[in-house]
Amino acid sequence: MLDDSPDTKVDAALAKLGKALEAGDVDAAVNLFRPDGFWRDLVSFTWNIRTLEGQEQIRAMLQSQLSATKPAHFARDPKEPSTEQGGISEGWFTFETGVGRGYGHIRLRNGLIWTLLTTLEELKGHEEPKGLARPMGAEHGHDRDRKSWKEKRDKEQAELGFETQPEVVIIGGGQGGIALGARLRQLGVPTIIIEKNERPGDSWRKRYKSLCLHDPVWYDHLPYIPFPENWPVFSPKDKMGDWLEMYTKVMELNYWGSTLCKSAKYDDKAGEWTVVVERDGKEIVLKPKQLVLATGMSGRPNVPKFEGQDIFKGEQHHSSQHPGPDAYRGKKVVVIGSNNSAHDICAALWEAGADVTMVQRSSTHVSRSGTLMELGLGPLYSEQAVAAGITTRKADLIFASIPYRLMHEFQMPLQKEIKRRDAKFYDDLERAGFLHDWGADGSGLTMKYLRRGSGYYIDVGASELVIDGSIKLKAGADVERLTQNSVVLKDGTELPADLVVYATGYGSMNGWAAELISQEVAEKVGKCWGLGSDTPKDPGPWEGEERNLWKPTQQEALWFHGGNLHQSRHYSQFLALQLKARKEGIPTPVYGLQEVYHKG
Ligand SMILES: Cc1cc2nc3c(=O)[nH]c(=O)nc-3n(C[C@H](O)[C@H](O)[C@H](O)COP(=O)(O)OP(=O)(O)OC[C@H]3O[C@@H](n4cnc5c(N)ncnc54)[C@H](O)[C@@H]3O)c2cc1C
Repeated sequence: MLDDSPDTKVDAALAKLGKALEAGDVDAAVNLFRPDGFWRDLVSFTWNIRTLEGQEQIRAMLQSQLSATKPAHFARDPKEPSTEQGGISEGWFTFETGVGRGYGHIRLRNGLIWTLLTTLEELKGHEEPKGLARPMGAEHGHDRDRKSWKEKRDKEQAELGFETQPEVVIIGGGQGGIALGARLRQLGVPTIIIEKNERPGDSWRKRYKSLCLHDPVWYDHLPYIPFPENWPVFSPKDKMGDWLEMYTKVMELNYWGSTLCKSAKYDDKAGEWTVVVERDGKEIVLKPKQLVLATGMSGRPNVPKFEGQDIFKGEQHHSSQHPGPDAYRGKKVVVIGSNNSAHDICAALWEAGADVTMVQRSSTHVSRSGTLMELGLGPLYSEQAVAAGITTRKADLIFASIPYRLMHEFQMPLQKEIKRRDAKFYDDLERAGFLHDWGADGSGLTMKYLRRGSGYYIDVGASELVIDGSIKLKAGADVERLTQNSVVLKDGTELPADLVVYATGYGSMNGWAAELISQEVAEKVGKCWGLGSDTPKDPGPWEGEERNLWKPTQQEALWFHGGNLHQSRHYSQFLALQLKARKEGIPTPVYGLQEVYHKG
């Protein structure tokens, strides 16, 4: 009897793929894909983060990269059973390249490859010291010049940046810089993290008092040290700060707190950066080969300019500077904006007894936290997913295996179900006058996040306050000017105000390059974030991957790292491997360096 189990189908496809690739037969490899097939590669073939769409793009990539990559040993992972549903077989596999070992995921439709994910896991000869290869810690035997672990660590800290230069400098010690720093340390890449705040975690501590993570704990683990089983589902921000501080310490990161990066300049000839930082009032010059800006997607406040801001007698600040509600009991507050921060801040102010008005200019997508957790993240990141054997690594790879071109199609049915389940909630919200949308194509929150990083609220209670009028709402309204004691809207409404909060979001990360390097470099690398979906705030043309994040940019030796905790965890692996390869002089022929279509 013919065995047509999913494992057999995946085995057969991998055998053919492996054979074609090992033989350097591009045509044979391409013909294993459907005409509408996708190949997403995270660094293993392209030394880039790229999705090839359709046979011709796959062919062009292989023609360029195959001989240098030398792929071999494609084999189904025997620990992960293949599955089949709706005519699609899925499986997991290992493979090697000339310089590394990789892991991948395959989806087959009618015997042809529909989606292929290839990821670089480690570099041969530069494996992380873990498991059987972990350090001994104790050095058994005798040595009159014996140095303890701490003495060695103290020496390293005293010398790095002074007698010895780091290979990598990371500007920004939020969770992004910290996660990447941890990966680089395990790979033996000397790295200094520069952070203007005093302590690791301060970027969370300094946010408004009521902030808790909007994503659940299963989505938020850092590399190497997952949160314990009793960690709250939604980390309160100060607890998150303490975790990051603990993590930085035990992962032995070279973290320079209270240190401001003032400027950075690349010397093409020397192939190194001159990075000027100020630490404890003293200027120090660092000379790394690679520079990473992990200065935060949510770090450069967008503050709108309105007539009258100079004469307004009350207090006004951006949401990132908002201290929390305590000082505003009984005060009149106008919050400009209607996304996450605006809702969180309005709700906390209302709880503290302030009179709050939210000014909503354009529509916002709202998902109720419970529904989103169950339907959106639950299948991959939840206690149930863990029980079903979906580890964090596996969940990250499943998510990565869905090409961005198709992802909205995976999201749309989910949004329909959310709409069905919470129909009354959305009716109430709209009846209250709140302008609500489901994203440009009905694909909801995840796509809004990936395309523009804004435009949504994960409801943890503020929507009820909007619905019942506790938070007053001026929807479809725009600010015309401020007077000494009020905000005047374009429709003539005057809102008395003691405090104005601008919950108006953040600018593109290449603004950091303009600030620290030069306007010229900022424009050369172009806009960060977004897929080129040609939807609001994510202009086309289609680019297919997050612009400039975690991959080579048009500026030699300049990298951007950031995103939410999930992305920071997952993509720090690939950025760290790219940096390690460069340190070791391993050839890294980059395929398809992104074009720049937007300056910022
Ligand atoms: C209100 C709010 C809620 C959020 N909720 C979530 C959530 O639930 N889950 C989630 O995953 N993400 C959430 N995010 C996104 C969040 O911003 C990121 O997850 C996280 O902060 C990104 O970490 P990061 O390290 O990339 O950036 P940041 O945390 O912003 O860190 C960047 C660091 O760079 C430092 N820096 C900047 N310039 C310099 C300089 N010149 N010299 C030295 N240091 C410098 C800053 O001081 C800062 O500490 C939220 C963001 C906001 C604003």
